[in-house]
Amino acid sequence: MAVEERGRLADYGLSSERVLMQQKGPGVFEQELGDLEERLMLTTVERAIAWAQGSSIWPDTFGLACCAIEMMTIVSARYDIARFGSEVFRASPRQADLLIVSGRVSHKMAKPLRQIYDQMLEPKWVIAMGACSSSGGMFNNYAILQGVDRIVPVDVHVPGCPPRPEALIEGINRLQEKIKAGVPPAYEIRKVAS
Ligand code: SF4
Repeated sequence: MAVEERGRLADYGLSSERVLMQQKGPGVFEQELGDLEERLMLTTVERAIAWAQGSSIWPDTFGLACCAIEMMTIVSARYDIARFGSEVFRASPRQADLLIVSGRVSHKMAKPLRQIYDQMLEPKWVIAMGACSSSGGMFNNYAILQGVDRIVPVDVHVPGCPPRPEALIEGINRLQEKIKAGVPPAYEIRKVAS
């Protein structure tokens, strides 16, 4: 399928680069978010909805392999993803906003995974957690899908084998930033596998 010309994420207001250059201070978006409470009555409905959506991302209860153990840990007292509004892992994809693909995806599992994604209501987002889900990792063989973005559009890739819980939380934080900045979900931007 032909992929349309896409804009850079920065064109949508994303400024994640400053995470690596903190001496540059808060970005425009962060300044705006800091003023959100007092400006809420003056903001647009779209921006208020994006703020609400980004602050309550509920992940689907879905784990595939070793990475899933790290994923489960984010709800523990030590990491406490509830601080960011994402502690409510849902048992039904119809009640979930986020699919965290945590582990290698076998070709046999690809169809059920896609079915779960299709059952999620829009807007919905996908995090590819770990080397295996992003690229097949060390499993360059006939049994493993060489990147879950071949079957679902991925919003955030979290590197590592396995990524630590902090890395997954960082990925969720970056996803929140994208949502609050008005960046459309990957299925709208990429127009592939959607
Ligand atoms: S990335 Fe590493 S920890 Fe995660 S599923 Fe693959 S082998 Fe396991």
